[in-house]
Amino acid sequence: REWCVALPKVELHAHLNGSVRNSTLLELAKQLAEKGIIVFEDVKDVIMKNGRSLPECFKLFDLFHILTTDHDTVTRIAKEVVEDFAAENVVYLEIRTTPKNNEAKGMTKRSYMNAVIKGLKAAEAVDVVLFDSNSRTNDTLTCTPTIELDGDTKKKRIYVRLLLSIDRRETTLAALDTVNLALEMKDQGVIGIDLSGNPVVGEWETYLPALQHAKELGIPITIHCGEVANRKEIQAVLDFCPQRLGHVCCLNDVEWKKLKSLMIPVEICLTSNVMTGGAPSLELHHFADLYNAKHPLSLCTDDCGLFSTSLSNEYFLVAATFGLSKPELFHLAQEAVQYIFADENVKKSLKEVFKDAGKRLT
Ligand code: 5GP
Repeated sequence: REWCVALPKVELHAHLNGSVRNSTLLELAKQLAEKGIIVFEDVKDVIMKNGRSLPECFKLFDLFHILTTDHDTVTRIAKEVVEDFAAENVVYLEIRTTPKNNEAKGMTKRSYMNAVIKGLKAAEAVDVVLFDSNSRTNDTLTCTPTIELDGDTKKKRIYVRLLLSIDRRETTLAALDTVNLALEMKDQGVIGIDLSGNPVVGEWETYLPALQHAKELGIPITIHCGEVANRKEIQAVLDFCPQRLGHVCCLNDVEWKKLKSLMIPVEICLTSNVMTGGAPSLELHHFADLYNAKHPLSLCTDDCGLFSTSLSNEYFLVAATFGLSKPELFHLAQEAVQYIFADENVKKSLKEVFKDAGKRLT
């Protein structure tokens, strides 16, 4: 386990509100209970409960959003989430979140995103690299990338990029707003678009115009695919051919074949898939098939708060379940650099990080 923590890692599939610490959720719940908005005991049980079926998860997200959706709290959770990933030696993080309008809180999608970015910048305990900057990417990074503070203290460096999620409950126009916001904020760390939300809600045709628009604008796209066995949608998603896919649990033989021939990189979320029933067990998870087929893969957490996991733990589970050796795990982590949405400069820096780490860890 310690080795998996020391391994530099790339996280490509993490939802902001699913990555919040339980302790923070409990603290926020207490504050709302004191104002009489919720009953703390009810919420506490829900937050600490272990069972997480897919429908339960989406009920939980509605609760999380009640707890977290004001500007200051969004800033706080963004700060904590980036600090937590950096503590795990995640050296590159694509964090995804659904920009939210909330009239009662004076919140627009833009102001929500500004609050997220404020949080990333406020993470003073770590060196967050949010923008592409040549001077930074020329820096020499060490295997646990750190920068010198005064004396012996060092800060961990983490490259962070943002993906804007379209929630499946949204209309075509709302989805288009999100894509336009991504374009507007591309110089502020926003790098791509995600389609997520309850997979039994909504129709592919509703989001397609916005996804098409993003494609025309050259904005990279990742799509949650096959969380449920919706044959028509899985087919349409594969035909759309986004830059990456999340989950890909419920594919049939023809769809597996197509996915493999398209070589679309897959964000693998082991714990999440087993907990929500997308995979029957760790042992029978489709990771093994894709890994043996040398399909492009990246291990991810999905919602490390909700599922009580960490990226280090996901690597550990792969070793424990599928018998991957340390060099194989290292290679898996290193290969994920190829699938990041950030530019070649960042890739180059990350390759250096892995090169240095390789001397120590393999
Ligand atoms: P947020 O976008 O509010 O920061 O993060 C929570 C949201 O991410 C949820 O409301 C949901 O739309 C999406 N999400 C988180 N985990 C999952 C998942 O496992 N599957 C799907 N389809 N969506 C998810």
